[in-house]
Amino acid sequence: MFSVFCKMKMRTLSILLFSLLVLAEPTFAGPKKPKKPKKIVFLIGDGMGLTQITGAMADFTGRNSFERFTYIGLSKTASADNYITDSGAGATVFSIGKKTYNGAIGVDSAGKEKEGLFEKLKTAAWGTGVVVTSSVTHATPAAFYAHVTSRKSEDEIAESLILNNCDLAIGGGKKFFLGRKDKRNLFEELNEKGFTIATDTFLKIFDAKKIIYTLAENGMKTMQEGRGDYLMQATKLAQKNLEKHYGNYFLMVEASQIDWGGHDNNFEYMKAELIDFNQVINAVLDEAIKDGNTLVIVTADHETGGLSLLENKENKHLFKANYASSGHSGVMVPVFAYGPGAEQFAGVYENTEIYYKIVTLLKLNGKL
Ligand code: MG
Ligand code: ZN
Repeated sequence: MFSVFCKMKMRTLSILLFSLLVLAEPTFAGPKKPKKPKKIVFLIGDGMGLTQITGAMADFTGRNSFERFTYIGLSKTASADNYITDSGAGATVFSIGKKTYNGAIGVDSAGKEKEGLFEKLKTAAWGTGVVVTSSVTHATPAAFYAHVTSRKSEDEIAESLILNNCDLAIGGGKKFFLGRKDKRNLFEELNEKGFTIATDTFLKIFDAKKIIYTLAENGMKTMQEGRGDYLMQATKLAQKNLEKHYGNYFLMVEASQIDWGGHDNNFEYMKAELIDFNQVINAVLDEAIKDGNTLVIVTADHETGGLSLLENKENKHLFKANYASSGHSGVMVPVFAYGPGAEQFAGVYENTEIYYKIVTLLKLNGKL
């Protein structure tokens, strides 16, 4: 009797276990497909390594934006010809997914033009834009919309905006559009292509489908010189315009001068730029949280200055900033991600992967 009961019980138990396994099966079916973002805000702190972030954190006003991200990764920044990248190769890799030589803008190691992310995005009818604190023709923004063999050709880079793969560019660099060696007035030419141009009144022009605002002859003022909330206002204006006119968009925002503070070995300059950047990231995150369809990525092209934060013997509550170099260093840089697809950015990988992660998420693979 007991054995019959036992057998029955065993049978019931195995049926129960079996059904549990069947019911539970989806759990073992592998990771879910990532959600496709409708907008991407890609923020680059030029020269922003972990020591720059750590050094500036204590002085952040408002929230520490970096603590708000859900997924963190580390990017290996070497270029094709140098263990230490420059900003040309360091941004071209985000645009074409290939490591290239230092100084290259949107071209591969052989100097050959490669279709960039903005061109791919335009074929998918996405809006594209760059907002920077350097000239709009500087290496980092240029790598997204231009293809030239040297970052120094800023006149030639400015002409690339006529190609129409970049819908919006806000920063400095007026002198590369007017007062050129070839005497061309690029503003006139761009205006004919449908761009709204402004050189000092960008806040007055809220609504335009295509925008080029160059608000300084070359780079924008530094924060210490009183740039104010320019980067925040320009980013908001860009997001609003791209959203309204294109719906889906990719906006690259660069805190260009974190790098310049590093080259100068000027800790206070660097910090002021990063404190400003933190505020911009916070604002972008606030919008992304409300929106639910925006992927926010914050990273760097490389670290600048070989900055280390040492004990300050005079004041134990402050760091002693120590620079090992006035150039770039080869240390890995962090990648912070929030929003649909953010989980793809966790891990340790080559900087080329950032491009492939974006292209895969947006299903632009067919156009690789
Ligand atoms: Mg830059
Ligand atoms: Zn630099």
